[in-house]
Amino acid sequence: MPYYEIYCSVTFFILGAVVGSFLNVVILRVPEGASIVHPPSRCPDCGSAVRFYDNVPILSFLVLGGRCRDCGSRISFRYPLIEFTTALLSLALYKKFGISPAFMVFFPYCCAMIVVFWIDLDHMIIPDVITINGIAVGVIVSLVGFIPYMNIKTSLLGTLFGGAILYLPAIVYEKLRGAEGLGGGDIKLLATIGAFSGVHGVIFVLFFASLVGSAVALVTMAVKGSSAKTPIPFGPFLTTTGIVYVFVGQRVIDNFYALSHAF
Ligand SMILES: [Zn+2]
Repeated sequence: MPYYEIYCSVTFFILGAVVGSFLNVVILRVPEGASIVHPPSRCPDCGSAVRFYDNVPILSFLVLGGRCRDCGSRISFRYPLIEFTTALLSLALYKKFGISPAFMVFFPYCCAMIVVFWIDLDHMIIPDVITINGIAVGVIVSLVGFIPYMNIKTSLLGTLFGGAILYLPAIVYEKLRGAEGLGGGDIKLLATIGAFSGVHGVIFVLFFASLVGSAVALVTMAVKGSSAKTPIPFGPFLTTTGIVYVFVGQRVIDNFYALSHAF
């Protein structure tokens, strides 16, 4: 591997880790409606401010042995996990798209998916500030041609399709059961995914998210013996599949069409 390639790979990994550190703050503070830039991070147990040299993504957690320098209480493993995930995604996106408009679109997109994943897991909500703005960004970057295989028409169709395909069953479910099964947040999230990946993306994401989501729900019920009414957030499945689509979606769609023409 040429030196230039190694240098870029390391840089994109570090960039991702630093951004992941910021995503940790976003995930904690957006549901509280708190500012994401102020005040600086504090230990939730003893309240002492995190020193700048203890704020190095991934490494600080390892150096400190996963404990606060002041009070010794455990730091959640999720902080380095989110930093590492974001770093890996940054590197993988660089490897797939290079330094290109597609990277500039899909890196923030994947970051938004990571944030929604954790906020929905924690609070069972998907913030409008991410999905509504996400739809606008997705349509604009499709319009200017920053996303491979996408244009303004495929983006708008994807948004409408993503919004409609969950909206109808949600209304029916609510009428029948008198309870909300699918949240409005899921509907807007799928519309956001549609804005970035079109109708094909929505079908791919909904299919695989439902498949994996059902499997996880069944295993959870088998293990915990919980009733079918135990709510499992759908957002984490939608966001994970949304990220997977960025990497393999087009190939899967192409193979599917090639296969369907063979019969
Ligand atoms: Zn502490």
